[in-house]
Amino acid sequence: MLVVMQEGASEAQTENVINLLVEMGFTVHRSTGVRHTVLGGVGPIDDFDPAALEVIEGVKECHRIVSPYKLASRHFKPGGTVIKVGNVEIGGRQIVLMAGPCSVENEDQIERAAEIVASAGGQVIRGGAFKPRSSPYSFQGLGEHGLQLMRKAADRRGLAVISEVMDQTQIPLLSQYSDILQVGARNMQNFNLLRELGKVRKPILLKRGIAATIEELLLSAEYIMSGGNYEVMLCERGIRTFETSTRNTMDIAAMPVLKRLTHLPVIADPSHGTGKREYVLPMARAAVAAGADGLLVEVHHDPDHALSDGAQTLRPDQFTDMMQQVRAIASAIGRAS
Ligand code: PEP
Ligand code: MN
Repeated sequence: MLVVMQEGASEAQTENVINLLVEMGFTVHRSTGVRHTVLGGVGPIDDFDPAALEVIEGVKECHRIVSPYKLASRHFKPGGTVIKVGNVEIGGRQIVLMAGPCSVENEDQIERAAEIVASAGGQVIRGGAFKPRSSPYSFQGLGEHGLQLMRKAADRRGLAVISEVMDQTQIPLLSQYSDILQVGARNMQNFNLLRELGKVRKPILLKRGIAATIEELLLSAEYIMSGGNYEVMLCERGIRTFETSTRNTMDIAAMPVLKRLTHLPVIADPSHGTGKREYVLPMARAAVAAGADGLLVEVHHDPDHALSDGAQTLRPDQFTDMMQQVRAIASAIGRAS
């Protein structure tokens, strides 16, 4: 249930409504917008009369939320969520560029990657230290050492860091080194992990599962948010279809659909979305034109020798080119990058 408070409602009036909702059995989540405070009541109760709450002082309106996700719904925060990571705002006017190698391989590689990202104007460096590989014999990542190297390379250039957390035991370590915690496609429905991430105070980038619907993605975000962590961004990274020309099928329509259904920032990953470096640029352009708030892209100084995902990883010149084109599209649609 959603209670929209009147513009200028007092703190005492808001507290009063919160107490009433709690008495009714709801868990209450509060969203403070520019004009209105919105209270989201979450719980298994559905035999209440919204009209009864609308007569309480300070209440503007009250609605049942029919979607199965509540806190992730756009109704909860109509103005959209902006997530601040240092000086970077994700979900605002700016298109945020997160880029770097698939995995951190060694110091030289991650330093070069950070240089490529920073000099092209990117804001966040990506790199996996714990890698979810389909084969147990493939490179699994450098672990904590990789995180240390990436943190150092990022700090030298004023970049933020994003890296994947594969299970809940890794949360403290990842939180120590990474500004954003990435939940990979294979873990989108690892509900124990999602619940634990609800307790941390770090932004989460939640990737869409390879066979997940948009509603399932939003329900996974709801797991994190219902634990109290509202800083979730959603990432479209392609889904598995019958098509074999690309590694995954990049769902460009997910961008406008998500922007309509949720207030959470939406990030597009055209690298995993296509699996081939020649398709990354056109899909990056399309994603930004379709409303993505940012891009997550793989880039490496020598992608043909990358230890993971080389085929979909951009060369530095391709990355710079992409950045320029994205900038042109951003300004054409009234955004910045
Ligand atoms: C990655 O970002 O390198 C990754 C493993 O992504 P996904 O979970 O989307 O496959
Ligand atoms: Mn990868």
